[in-house]
Amino acid sequence: MKHFILFGPPGAGKGTQAAKLVEKYNFLHLSTGDLLRSEIKKGTELGKAAKELIDKGFLVPDEIVEGMIKDQFIKNPDVKGFLLDGFPRTVVQAEHLDDMLKELGEDVTGVISIMIPDGMVKERIRHRAQIEGRADDTSDEIIENRIQTYHAKTEPLISYYKKAGKYKEIDGIGTIEDIFGKICKVI
Ligand code: AMP
Repeated sequence: MKHFILFGPPGAGKGTQAAKLVEKYNFLHLSTGDLLRSEIKKGTELGKAAKELIDKGFLVPDEIVEGMIKDQFIKNPDVKGFLLDGFPRTVVQAEHLDDMLKELGEDVTGVISIMIPDGMVKERIRHRAQIEGRADDTSDEIIENRIQTYHAKTEPLISYYKKAGKYKEIDGIGTIEDIFGKICKVI
């Protein structure tokens, strides 16, 4: 099986590209953001706890997202591969992902990083807010928190995966089709 991680700052286009990649390669798309939003919609205890943090632009605890991912791995043993989107977001999550995949006799095939500058993150998120109406896309303060969180907690993953020889970066500025083409080449 092949397992790819879609990496990049908020608003880089991971979700958009994931939808296209799933159609082409038949991966199972696992977005921790989508899984958390679905828990919030269902009104579960997990959803309520996560909402407070998500709405402020902070990360939810590693154990919560790792538990959700592990659940999905167990429920879907026969897939062609996983396309992880928004996970891992901390070095601890990355280490635990390695452990979880190892237990299944698998490992991360590659990390595809879609890079855009901070200024564009804000622009993209403001645009998405009008389309998707996500609560965490609405205020500049929350968006700023998410950018800061990305730099502080998520960016260290770049060297983690570079060291593992699994990191591939592509320029996230361009049309959806251009970027999709570049990702397909990497895959
Ligand atoms: P996303 O849809 O990937 O932008 O995620 C929306 C929000 O969900 C993030 O700002 C975090 O609060 C939370 N979240 C999603 N994935 C993770 C993760 N892997 N670790 C911690 N929090 C996460």
